Parts: sequence; structure tokens; C-alpha cells
Amino acid sequence: MQKKSSATSPQNHPRIPPEFDGIQVNHCKSPVCPNYGVAAGQSSVRGSNSYILDSRNIGISSCICTSCGVGFPLKSNLGITEEVERMASYLQRPNAVCCRNAACANHTNQVPVGTVGAYASFGKTAIGNSRWRCSVCGKTFSQNTKPTARQREHHKNKTIFKLLVNKMPVRRIIEVADIHPKTFYQRLDFLHRQCQVFAAHRERALASLPISRLYLGVDRQDYLVNWLVRKDSCRSWLTSTCPKRSAACRPSGHSPTPRKLKSGRSLQQSFGGPLSDS
Ligand SMILES: [Zn+2]
Ligand SMILES: [Zn+2]
Repeated sequence: MQKKSSATSPQNHPRIPPEFDGIQVNHCKSPVCPNYGVAAGQSSVRGSNSYILDSRNIGISSCICTSCGVGFPLKSNLGITEEVERMASYLQRPNAVCCRNAACANHTNQVPVGTVGAYASFGKTAIGNSRWRCSVCGKTFSQNTKPTARQREHHKNKTIFKLLVNKMPVRRIIEVADIHPKTFYQRLDFLHRQCQVFAAHRERALASLPISRLYLGVDRQDYLVNWLVRKDSCRSWLTSTCPKRSAACRPSGHSPTPRKLKSGRSLQQSFGGPLSDS
């Protein structure tokens, strides 16, 4: 019989998902319980465990708090960290414009345009963007500063955006705006990017605001999204949360995130094609 490799051997798996980057969510969530916020231990001591592992649900690892008796599924702290980073990635400032030649020192050192002596202005592109020539390698490059570059009839963006936020079905938007379905989904991605840029511009300022204690009101809404094809009649459940400063104010915008996809599809797969508007 073939011996199990040490990498896949169950005894090498930790009892509880280990803490990652200061995040450990595997603890009792009841505020009135003595174990609230106390992480489950990596070793089991008979008779004195704060939590016991629950193996009744096949395929789902979970814990039961021995103090209050409430169970909770075990979650990967690494996965949560990566998801937080993914969701917050829009807050990152765009990379500085520098030489595109990978073999050039200005590219390796990420020397930005505007550095004295590093680049020389080299006219403009056909659509009006600035072009520069690298002083080290002599290659020219430009940076697209117009989000609507390469878009024909970009004046329709405003109409599409207004119809979208007023909940008009996709097929009606395509008819009213007189655009091809492919164009609609390209504009949908474009509008999403622009909304993220706007939100990032506002939210980055939070870090420098003179706030001694921040109170946030949080609203949550669940959305049921229609299936893509009739044969696959599984609805996708998206949970949207939206914080706003001061609990007295009702949050005004929502960012849906996947909470449960009944069919096990990824969010990308669920939005890979047009959603039914019927
Ligand atoms: Zn508890
Ligand atoms: Zn260069």
C-alpha cells in the first residue's frame, strides 16, 4: 500500500486555521460569552477545551464553543486576508508612469516621469496624450490619460449610467441607448472602473481626516440574481454591505459581494454573460 505523503497527511494539518497577518476569526462570536474573541487553541486538552471540533457536517469543519454551546464554521484566515486585499485593491494608487523597456534602468528603478533629466518630452500621440523619450535607453512611450480613449459615442456613457442606476433592465438599456450588447458590457466594466476611481479618491482621504473616534452605521442588503440559462435555474445570492459615518445616517451606496452561490459557481462565472432581464 502506498504511503501517504507528509504534505497531505491529516496529522500535519493544524487543528484550527492558523492566524495570518494578525487575523484570527475562529472564535466565539457571542458578545456575552466568556470565549468571545478568544481564539480556539491549536492543541486539544481533554476536559479543558474552550472549543470542540464538530464533525457532524461532512465537508464542513466547524467548532462548538464549550461555554455557550454555539457552533461556527472554521474559516481560513489566509483566505480572508487575500479577499480583503482583493476588495481593497481599488484604493491603491496607480503606478507611476515610467519607461516601459524592461531592460532599462529607469524601468527597473521605477523612475517616474517628471524626474529631472530622466525623460524628455516627445510631442503628443494622435489622440492627444503626452509622449516622452527615455534619456537612458532612448525609447519613447506615452500614457493614456483619457479614460474614454478608444470609445466611440462616449457621450452615451451618461445615459447608460443613469439608466443602470435607475434599474432599467439590460435589454431595455441596449434599446434606449441604441448600442450593441457587447458595447453595453464594455461600458458596464468602464463605468465600474470609474466608480471605483471616484470612491478611492474619496476614501483615501479618510486616513488623514481629523477623526478622534469614528462611528460607522452599516446597512446590509441581499440580492438574488437571476440565472443565466433556463437549464441552470440556480439563483446567485449576493450580500451587499455599506458603511457610513454616523449611525444616524442611512448608507446611500452598496458594494455587493458574493455570499452564497447555490450552484457553486464563481462570481466571475455568474456574470460571464448577460443576465436575464425577464
Ligand atoms: Zn461562546
Ligand atoms: Zn528607458
